[in-house]
Amino acid sequence: MSFSFIHYKRNLPKQRDIKSRVNDYKDYNGFWSKKDVIDQSSRCMGCGVPFCHQGCPLGNFIPDWNNLVSKSNWESALKSLHSTNNFPDFTGRICPAPCEASCVLNINNEPVAIEQIEKEISEKGWGMGWISPQIPTNRTGKKIAVIGSGPTGLAAAQQLNRLGHFVTVFEKDAKIGGLLRYGIPDFKLDKFIVERRVNQIIQEGVDFVPNAHVGVNIDTDDLIKDYDVLLLACGARHPRDLNIPGRDLEGIHFAMEYLTQQNVFNDPELDSNKKQILANGKNVIIIGGGDTGSDCLGTAHRQKAKNVYQFELLPKPPKRRSNDNPWPQWPKIFTSSGSHDEGGVREFGISTKKFNGKDGKLVSLSTVKVHNYNGGFKEIAGSEKDIPTDLVVLAMGFETPDLDDVVKKLRIKLSKNNHVETKSNGVTNINNVFAAGDMVIGQSIVVSAIAEGRKVADSINHYLNKIS
Ligand SMILES: Cc1cc2nc3c(=O)[nH]c(=O)nc-3n(C[C@H](O)[C@H](O)[C@H](O)COP(=O)(O)OP(=O)(O)OC[C@H]3O[C@@H](n4cnc5c(N)ncnc54)[C@H](O)[C@@H]3O)c2cc1C
Ligand code: SF4
Repeated sequence: MSFSFIHYKRNLPKQRDIKSRVNDYKDYNGFWSKKDVIDQSSRCMGCGVPFCHQGCPLGNFIPDWNNLVSKSNWESALKSLHSTNNFPDFTGRICPAPCEASCVLNINNEPVAIEQIEKEISEKGWGMGWISPQIPTNRTGKKIAVIGSGPTGLAAAQQLNRLGHFVTVFEKDAKIGGLLRYGIPDFKLDKFIVERRVNQIIQEGVDFVPNAHVGVNIDTDDLIKDYDVLLLACGARHPRDLNIPGRDLEGIHFAMEYLTQQNVFNDPELDSNKKQILANGKNVIIIGGGDTGSDCLGTAHRQKAKNVYQFELLPKPPKRRSNDNPWPQWPKIFTSSGSHDEGGVREFGISTKKFNGKDGKLVSLSTVKVHNYNGGFKEIAGSEKDIPTDLVVLAMGFETPDLDDVVKKLRIKLSKNNHVETKSNGVTNINNVFAAGDMVIGQSIVVSAIAEGRKVADSINHYLNKIS
């Protein structure tokens, strides 16, 4: 048995130098040498009882493909990876990697670099031409309309088409991909990675209809009439607002407005005629200390902001796990992203009281420090501050799906927290309308969206087999 983790430390490929990478929107993460891939994957070998695959929402067979890669058996590793994950090229780049949090080495050492190994396997697969369309040999004659082309809709569409059903994906935006295309910045996920997969799915036989806003310019009655099943995979993009005095001043934007316009601007095929929200030369304040806020931070660096601050209401997390947050749980500890490494000031325990303006334009915001008190927050007297700013980006999370188009038209029943209510098999209150992804579970992560898409595809297939 090999205990390579004793000999090899976790290492990740070198990133592009910060000074140069903030001048463009290109991916700044690299690849390993052949030797590094073998050394790093072999760190997994010798594990007694692996927990990593339980941490992965897809249940990826992580030790299996690590073993195969450590023996340079790349093609079998790719097969194993694809048996549970439609899009390892997405997750190998942008997954927060809950698997690594539950890696046994993470108890008292550094975890296996699982996410990077996943990226290396999928890129090897593309490079060698091992990833090709899997066109179904038989067709069932059943028709499914998938509404929404984010990772949930894409995974479900690919699975259902491979089972022989006819699948059409309706997408309200001009291009396919959901948040993969319009939310996540290019420096984290280059859009050719998304396009490559969409092309594979098209070649397998799935039909995509862009600019098709179901419930607005596509009639839901027509879809119900023309398709055996509808799958709602519309995401949950209604943002949490900050309704304090001065909210209507010019210069305050939601994170998705800010990020989407930059992604659109980077794509020469998309219409970017709208006036762009720009951070250049400005004092930018991002309200919300999470990952979306961090994406706004990286974007503001690239737009050459003068100063960027990221404010979070919650206190700064501890450096190490607390006693009530043991391994293999997701660690609630202080972490930094690549965007944080590039600069900016992070502040915790800050509440924004009001926005101040002049002639209708934002000029500053008033804040106060807070600490946790009785399950809420208590202001710290004397800590009030006015901070000059010309651009505020609100990145405080997302509350619900959009409820006034397809959900309203189909009279879909909602859960207590205003997401779509489904039974455990993904069916809604209408027996041939299913729902999955962020629209049901709330704003989540890409790996969970893929898992949701695969799970609901199984349920839909089961339903179609039963009624035929
Ligand atoms: C800024 C940002 C950065 C993120 N970064 C990461 C990350 O780095 N890693 C990670 O794992 N997760 C990340 N996430 C979360 C992740 O992107 C989502 O959890 C995931 O995309 C959800 O997939 P989905 O398919 O359910 O929804 P979405 O990706 O939101 O896709 C839903 C699609 O449905 C379409 N649609 C909605 N209504 C209709 C309608 N009526 N008719 C037709 N089409 C419709 C939308 O236009 C959209 O294309 C990020 C999220 C945000 C907002
Ligand atoms: S998809 Fe994410 S959680 Fe699953 S193995 Fe890959 S990096 Fe880990």
